[in-house]
Amino acid sequence: MNRISTDILIVGGGAAGLSAAVEASAKAKVTNVDDNPNLGGQIWRAELGKVKSSEAKHLIEQIDVGKVQIINNAQVFGSNGVDKLLAETTDGNLELRFEKLIIATGARERFLPFPGWTLPNVLGGGGLQALVKGGLNIDGKRVVVAGTGPLLLAVADYLNAKGAEVLLIAEQTSAAKLRRFARGLWRQPAKMIEAAALRARLVGIPYKTDCWVTSADVSSSSRVLRSVSVFRNGITRTVECDYLACGFHLVPNIELASLLGARIENGFVAVDEFQHTSLENVYCAGEPTGIAGVESSLIEGKIAGLAGSGQPDSARSHFAARDKVRRFGEALNKAFGLRSELKTLAEADTIVCRCEDVKYKQLSEYGNSREAKLQARCGMGSCQGRVCGPATEFIFGWKPGSVRPPIFPVKLKNL
Ligand SMILES: Cc1cc2nc3c(=O)[nH]c(=O)nc-3n(C[C@H](O)[C@H](O)[C@H](O)COP(=O)(O)OP(=O)(O)OC[C@H]3O[C@@H](n4cnc5c(N)ncnc54)[C@H](O)[C@@H]3O)c2cc1C
Repeated sequence: MNRISTDILIVGGGAAGLSAAVEASAKAKVTNVDDNPNLGGQIWRAELGKVKSSEAKHLIEQIDVGKVQIINNAQVFGSNGVDKLLAETTDGNLELRFEKLIIATGARERFLPFPGWTLPNVLGGGGLQALVKGGLNIDGKRVVVAGTGPLLLAVADYLNAKGAEVLLIAEQTSAAKLRRFARGLWRQPAKMIEAAALRARLVGIPYKTDCWVTSADVSSSSRVLRSVSVFRNGITRTVECDYLACGFHLVPNIELASLLGARIENGFVAVDEFQHTSLENVYCAGEPTGIAGVESSLIEGKIAGLAGSGQPDSARSHFAARDKVRRFGEALNKAFGLRSELKTLAEADTIVCRCEDVKYKQLSEYGNSREAKLQARCGMGSCQGRVCGPATEFIFGWKPGSVRPPIFPVKLKNL
């Protein structure tokens, strides 16, 4: 096993991890590990290695001066005592010893089960976007974008720019909630301008609120997606399409923090004003502490990097900005909360845990996630409940079970 030792270890090379690395590297030896081949996280993870955002370029250039040790393609899957993490790399395992740890592991999309959600060409919005960034040709393909949250607009905009025919954006939240959210945007002029520009680029594409997909259907001759059924105002209609991009806002990646024993509150990693977790030498920044967009991740990363490297006064100077973007996050989560009708989309034979093929009717027999895991293997597959866990929490109200190592699948020879 390879071993390295560092003052500050940052897990996650997205907006939060990168800004933490830039600040901390002024005072300490910093190592950043990320499981992707390129830095940038979900939003900036390079289009085939070429980062286009000027903000991301700036951050990555600051890091490039050699002060931060970057380790890509390394997935942290466990710990080895209180000051060491274990990552799987292409060269086998790597032990990462640290004085301070900053967890900046981001978020993932939330999926909810409905008939047909496991069909080929039914993908998460961010998932389809990532495939197109990776080379999938979407030119001329008919796409329905559905679910909830601002990511739907970003995905539709991206696919539209890449030549897709976006037929519909189906947003489950109500028009009233969305209006309230839009009215509150005056406090965030940059967001308002961004939203207006997005809407202008998407002009002509129907954006329907109170609207959701109830099923995805195949043609009789093949198992490929042919159409989706869309519900709105008591009426269900069929929309023929090649792809359905469907995601229900985001779920924080808190597994590493949970594994280490950090306090979790309401599904997020609890931190103090310095982004310090309940563990002595562990900080957390970005989406694991709350879903509030890229600005929030950048500022929280800065604070964690400064605080973790012994610069509390500089960290303090960012508190007001952080509190402002957090308020935006709170408004976001209120506006895009899930409506209860979505709990009833799955039918008896709808698969809920797609790793282990566990159907809805099997799960309705159990009272909590542990029983469902022990009896039906729900959440026991390779995603370790990352997909079905948030779904069963929403549908059945089951609290997530405890997190155990490895938090990601690891090759047997590396275990
Ligand atoms: C699929 C998806 C698509 C998105 N697309 C957009 C978009 O187009 N526009 C937009 O404004 N916002 C988008 N967002 C929201 C965006 O991610 C946030 O606004 C912001 O980028 C979050 O930054 P972050 O640093 O907190 O997390 P992230 O950017 O998610 O960075 C976290 C990084 O940590 C890595 N990681 C996690 N766990 C481990 C581990 N155990 N070991 C090693 N590495 C690990 C992840 O792979 C990731 O690279 C998207 C979110 C998702 C989930």
